[in-house]
Amino acid sequence: MLCPHCKIKLNSAILHNTEVDYCSQCLGLWFEQDELRLAKDEKDKDLQWLDIDLWKNEKEFKISYGRRICPSCRVPLYEVYYGSSGIIVDVCNLCQGVWLDRAEFKKIIDWLKKKADYEVLNNYVKNLFLEFAEIFTGPETIREEILDFLTILKLLNYKFTTQYPAISKIILQLPK
Ligand SMILES: [Zn+2]
Ligand SMILES: [Zn+2]
Repeated sequence: MLCPHCKIKLNSAILHNTEVDYCSQCLGLWFEQDELRLAKDEKDKDLQWLDIDLWKNEKEFKISYGRRICPSCRVPLYEVYYGSSGIIVDVCNLCQGVWLDRAEFKKIIDWLKKKADYEVLNNYVKNLFLEFAEIFTGPETIREEILDFLTILKLLNYKFTTQYPAISKIILQLPK
């Protein structure tokens, strides 16, 4: 698979049973739908109370044709915007994979922090992964980075992929 941005081969890493493909040059991340589904664990059922604002309201979705190509299907990705968040996520309407630029990753974390959603989700993730002590023995910055990554992974699970039917409907209605 090639990075939709740099066109170089993506590397893959396994984190908490989830394979994630990333670009070593631009640090963009590619999440495949099946892998996101696998990342759901038993404890996720308890998360109904998590009231995260991002990707919550389907009326806030704005979608347009993108210029990037799905690393998996080789078809153009769609750009999905959400309300005033300024966050853009690239989605494939065939495989439902999600591409996250490095800048968008940072934007999502900043947005969560601003909305005070970060603490709730991050604490949840932290508790969930405390059992994986070896993950947390590295330098502080790397630990934070991994927690942020897992927070994003959970957020994609809880909010984004569950909104996929709404996203798909909007894509169908786009002018050709
Ligand atoms: Zn890249
Ligand atoms: Zn695809």
